[in-house]
Amino acid sequence: MSKNSSDESRPAIEAYGLVKIYGEHRALDGIDLTVRRGQVFGFLGPNGAGKTTTIRILATLTRPDGGTARVLGHDLTGEREAIRARVSVTGQYAALDEDLTGHENLIILGRLHGLSRAAGRRRADDLLAAFDLTGPAGRPVGGYSGGMRRRLDIAAGLIVPPDLLFLDEPTTGLDPRSRGQVWELVRQVATAGTTVLLTTQYLEEADQLAEQIAVIDRGRIVAEGTSAQLKSRVGSGALHLRLLDGGQRARARQVLADALDGTVRLAADPLALSVLLPAPAGAADVGRLVGHAMTRLAEAQVGIAEITLGQPSLDEAFLALTGHLATPDHEDVPA
Ligand code: ATP
Repeated sequence: MSKNSSDESRPAIEAYGLVKIYGEHRALDGIDLTVRRGQVFGFLGPNGAGKTTTIRILATLTRPDGGTARVLGHDLTGEREAIRARVSVTGQYAALDEDLTGHENLIILGRLHGLSRAAGRRRADDLLAAFDLTGPAGRPVGGYSGGMRRRLDIAAGLIVPPDLLFLDEPTTGLDPRSRGQVWELVRQVATAGTTVLLTTQYLEEADQLAEQIAVIDRGRIVAEGTSAQLKSRVGSGALHLRLLDGGQRARARQVLADALDGTVRLAADPLALSVLLPAPAGAADVGRLVGHAMTRLAEAQVGIAEITLGQPSLDEAFLALTGHLATPDHEDVPA
């Protein structure tokens, strides 16, 4: 038994002023984070914001250039082995062998974690069943769909149930059905008692899964709160409009700004514009607001081709929370 100073009454994660510098670039610029035990914590931000770097530091895969942290009560610098034994990272790093079947992969991981062959087999069977992968379990992983692969990645991280699971963008690129399946898995993992830190680029995902959310932008935490608190700052949704005539856009913008008292954004498409609706009050209020806006547009004789009501996008959330769009940082902008 290794001796360490773990204090189980402490939060799962306590990080203060984490800094990571790559060359001239401050990938993390003073991250403070507290994650309670048993919580699903959402770490929301655009490409290149610093989510993966934060996870890598907290999982002891990378050393910070500044700041301190305790993970599951263990000191990040002095007790790296103790942390490693209790956390699991899935997402961008899952070490699955593409030539082996899903079943074989899980059994090998079980052996690596010290399970007997029989125990490893049982655990693999249980996880494959729980993750709806019994069917493809006998096929090489190289032929799995994105959704199957992602579910197997998560299963791989749970061979020995960790106390803290880092899920790095578990649903990026998945279709809505696969995304829903992964959400269900995350809920199951959390219900079983594992603390989950989940990174995501989707506001809706953080809203669905996380009790507490931190928004990261350019290496800094720019907002934090429960989903309801953030939503009340972001607004209840966005109204997207397509006009019949692009020449009417300036008029439509003025009418909408007056009618809804909101920020109207012009899209690159000259026929399109959108407006963030004010803070949520209820579905009926949203309907009334939209109706009011439509009446005003009709009075101003603005022709509408299409109208959709959506959740605020990450861009819109960032605009509301930070005053600027969630633009990826310079290194991630494609040439
Ligand atoms: P993504 O959604 O793209 O994974 P992220 O929020 O996880 O984004 P990070 O991967 O943490 O962001 O990257 C943060 C910043 O640090 C980016 O500008 C990235 O280019 C840079 N970066 C990350 N790892 C390295 C590295 N090993 N060397 C140099 N720069 C790096």
